[in-house]
Amino acid sequence: MKKSQEKISIVVPCYNEEESLPIFYKEINKVAAELKDVLFEFLFINDGSSDNTLKILRKLAKKDKRARYISFSRNFGKEAGMYAGLSSATGDYVAIMDADMQDPPSMLISMYHGIVDEGYDCVALYTSSHDDYSVLRKFFTKCWYKLISLISSTPQVPGARDFRLMKRKMVQAIVDMGEYNRYTKGIFSFVGFDTKWINYQAPDRVAGKSKFNFIKLFKYALEGIVAFSTTPLVISAFLGIIFCLIAFIAILVIIIKTLFLGDPVSGWPSLACIIIFMGGVQLFFLGVIGMYLSKTYLEVKKRPIYIVKETEKDFM
Ligand code: UDP
Ligand code: MG
Repeated sequence: MKKSQEKISIVVPCYNEEESLPIFYKEINKVAAELKDVLFEFLFINDGSSDNTLKILRKLAKKDKRARYISFSRNFGKEAGMYAGLSSATGDYVAIMDADMQDPPSMLISMYHGIVDEGYDCVALYTSSHDDYSVLRKFFTKCWYKLISLISSTPQVPGARDFRLMKRKMVQAIVDMGEYNRYTKGIFSFVGFDTKWINYQAPDRVAGKSKFNFIKLFKYALEGIVAFSTTPLVISAFLGIIFCLIAFIAILVIIIKTLFLGDPVSGWPSLACIIIFMGGVQLFFLGVIGMYLSKTYLEVKKRPIYIVKETEKDFM
């Protein structure tokens, strides 16, 4: 019996990508033409864009049967976009790609062969040179990967991008992890499966501007720590024990000094420093606990990860 034709779904989160989308569509079409034996589905996620992204997607869906789109009711973030795409993709293989051509569509061909010919479940890309990063961003990125490898048991490949092609089984495992606070880079690693890593130099954005500024990236880094490590909580408990021990020794020293040496009470400046220091440490760890608690709070509320306003079916 002839094996039915396999399908690759391309999930593309788009937030104000009116300039990049036509270029991306042209390039992904070339790839689809090259992989003749495979069917394609282009699944664009309009993440509350305020430019003409939705109009372009409507036109695409009208003229190309392979093109579908999901349009959110507002901006929910790239993580929500990826989840929506993975949840509704129908292909045997699913790829996640940025619309800005930083994930070159031409690489899909070797990624596809990595799965079909070499037997991997997933082919993912990472970039080791960050020429486009500022010195500060390079420094924080390096520190973050060092820190997460120390405190988390879920490994994170430095420079890993979201660009990857996965088998359906892996996609299903990711979709089954329906957590609200999504840190997809960690989820990819958490679900396991055999992944082939390819190093590449990410080109510059073809048009438009990056949607991630320093503050957004910093929040994203914290998100990754809270989602995949509870070590900060252990550290707070550990420090608590150490400070108790120090306090106990200090009490003994003060009693001995007072009883045997008759030392009068003095040194309020040092006392003030100790109180301020301890207050700072306590507030810091209260904040750490608060971060975990707030994530638990959002998780318990079970709010939707995204809300759909329109799909290609509504527009047809
Ligand atoms: N993106 C999104 N929602 C957002 C921010 C970004 O869907 O809130 C999309 C964006 O359109 C692009 C991809 O995520 O296709 C990566 O974003 P960007 O290129 O701005 O990030 P960078 O490559 O600079 O990290
Ligand atoms: Mg980009």
